[in-house]
Amino acid sequence: MKTRDKFSPYSLHLYDVECAKQYYFEYLDAYTSDFRNKPKLKQILVEDGRSKDLVFGDVIHRVLNDFFHLVSAERTEPRLIEILKETWAGPRGKERGFPQIEDERKHYERALKLLKRFAQTQNLNPEITYLPQTENEGEFIKENLLMFPFEPGIILQGKIDRIDREEDGYHLIDYKTSRSESHDDLQLSAYAILSRQALGKPIHKASYLYLETGNFKTFPVTEETEAKTRQRIVEMISRIKADEEFAPRPGKRCYWCPYVEFCPAKDKANEYIAELRQSRGETETTDLPF
Ligand code: SF4
Repeated sequence: MKTRDKFSPYSLHLYDVECAKQYYFEYLDAYTSDFRNKPKLKQILVEDGRSKDLVFGDVIHRVLNDFFHLVSAERTEPRLIEILKETWAGPRGKERGFPQIEDERKHYERALKLLKRFAQTQNLNPEITYLPQTENEGEFIKENLLMFPFEPGIILQGKIDRIDREEDGYHLIDYKTSRSESHDDLQLSAYAILSRQALGKPIHKASYLYLETGNFKTFPVTEETEAKTRQRIVEMISRIKADEEFAPRPGKRCYWCPYVEFCPAKDKANEYIAELRQSRGETETTDLPF
């Protein structure tokens, strides 16, 4: 079986917490992991109307990143909303995530509300010491990927949203557009290792910033938490390398999965998707997986 020598905090979370089979399709399967097939697979989600939340999360991340690249004097609420309009560049339509215009309107309004609240409640002029650089590649935006050799033959890589310099040290911030606020510390601790090794910035604390509510969920970062995280990552990678089955774990996550058609748990996955479609209705109460 194909093996892998690059791991990210996201891929480890996908394998360990979400679904090992989705990890397999994403990174190991000869067909679905091939980058030439990714646009086709993404289109399955788009046409099925299941990519709206993913597009929404991506737009919000891009808007905030562009906003914080501005000089302090330009970081105002009207400018933030202007960047949203430019980034949305709509209507995006069926090819770019929204088969129904009503759905697109609803998500745009949600983005508008979220960003207005962000401008009114968050510090718009923190002392930022790291923000990803972005590069336009046609319709796609490429963010710089940080990486470093974690162990012999193993690369740890990932994208960090923001690092602020505060009175007590470096503060790493990971934006979340999900309504669930139940994320554990593993991803943040792994990003903290990445920051120290790839950027030379030792993190003092790391937070998820839940953009729907403005809540921070903060974890301290110490030598001890870093040593424990290293151990967890090494143990996880050896489990991944030894795994021959990559058992599917059908659940709510299947709604956002582009590999349903290939999945041995397809029937169960489709039941979850139907259930979720029904429960979403007009109320959009679903937790997002990122
Ligand atoms: S459809 Fe569900 S169970 Fe199958 S790979 Fe995707 S997330 Fe996992």
